[in-house]
Amino acid sequence: MFDYERYKTPRKIVLLLLALALAWLGGREFTELRTMKETVVVSDAFTKMVMLSDYFPPIKGTGVDTPVYIYDSGVPGGSMFYLGGTHPYEPATQLSAYLMMENIKVEKGRVFICPHANMSASTVGMLGNAYPKFLHVETAFGPKPYRIGDRNTSPLDQWPDPFTYVHYPSGQNLDYTDARNLNRTYPGRPDGNLTEQLTFAIMELNRKENITLFVDAHEASLMYPVVSTYVAHDRALDMAMMASMELSATEFPMKCEASPKNLRGLSHRDAGDYCDSLVILMETPEPFIDRVAGKITEKLMMDGKDEFLQTAAEHGLLFTDYDISVGCPMWDRVGRHLSGALAMIRQMNDFLMEPEKELRLSFPNYSDLKEHGLGHFLNDPSKADPAKVFLN
Ligand SMILES: [Zn+2]
Repeated sequence: MFDYERYKTPRKIVLLLLALALAWLGGREFTELRTMKETVVVSDAFTKMVMLSDYFPPIKGTGVDTPVYIYDSGVPGGSMFYLGGTHPYEPATQLSAYLMMENIKVEKGRVFICPHANMSASTVGMLGNAYPKFLHVETAFGPKPYRIGDRNTSPLDQWPDPFTYVHYPSGQNLDYTDARNLNRTYPGRPDGNLTEQLTFAIMELNRKENITLFVDAHEASLMYPVVSTYVAHDRALDMAMMASMELSATEFPMKCEASPKNLRGLSHRDAGDYCDSLVILMETPEPFIDRVAGKITEKLMMDGKDEFLQTAAEHGLLFTDYDISVGCPMWDRVGRHLSGALAMIRQMNDFLMEPEKELRLSFPNYSDLKEHGLGHFLNDPSKADPAKVFLN
């Protein structure tokens, strides 16, 4: 019979060392994601970089403070604030912000771009979901890495979660994890939790800079009805309707929905209600976050080809067109965001017909990315003027 008392201490030491080795291996991966920096080479139209905390100092030095890049034409006109990375596990949003930042030209008005709206959420993976830490965009100077983060603020920056998240100021009860969800905490509050303070800082930028158009970029699963869609706040609805018709007729199918009045905390509802900006949210199809998809790999993130989604499409279960021979490649999703913003700006200029709110700018659109690919529009940081290279 086995004597459990024999070698008890050495056995405990071996098990402890084994546990420490596993913790070290896991911890190394978490640290890698938390400390990795993305590079961006800003275009000649770049004016200056500020921190979001310049608009609300209490978030300075916290995990949610984030850079905002300003492109000021010097000609008075309208303005756009473009948010990528509200939910970092929807990375076509960050990439669309970077594509804009590297290529934008502004003739009239000002553009504010924040590639990581929730910086904290971009430094942690989704707890319980095994998926890659990084994606790579192929370029002439080699594969360029970007982070794939979580949906919500990292628990390292905001903890613990409440049993129920009570939205401010409506009092609506939401899921407890929504206390860390940037797109459930609008309009935010100065003395709220860290994510509410982040939302408040974004709203302060909208108010203090008198932003004409506020764009919140997202990606959605294909089984979610609000995919390939603009969701527009009341004041932006007519323009978004026209933009969706324009896009559907020329580049790709894009739906448009009115922001529901009784679903609180979302940018297209509570950002629009608490500042003067026209507010839209955009959703592209991202197979990577569908529950029915197969292996959650970097390949799936980049080409969006999945046989289970094809089967779902054949059974009419998806809310967007899907063909596995095409998939939902990253260039397509980034291009949709770029053309989505451009179409909205065109409609805004036509609808408002106010020279002081007019915005004239250009950056690559869907057709440009279809022709040349994504990497073509990214510049090599090692060959660029160091004053134009930023780390995020
Ligand atoms: Zn989202």
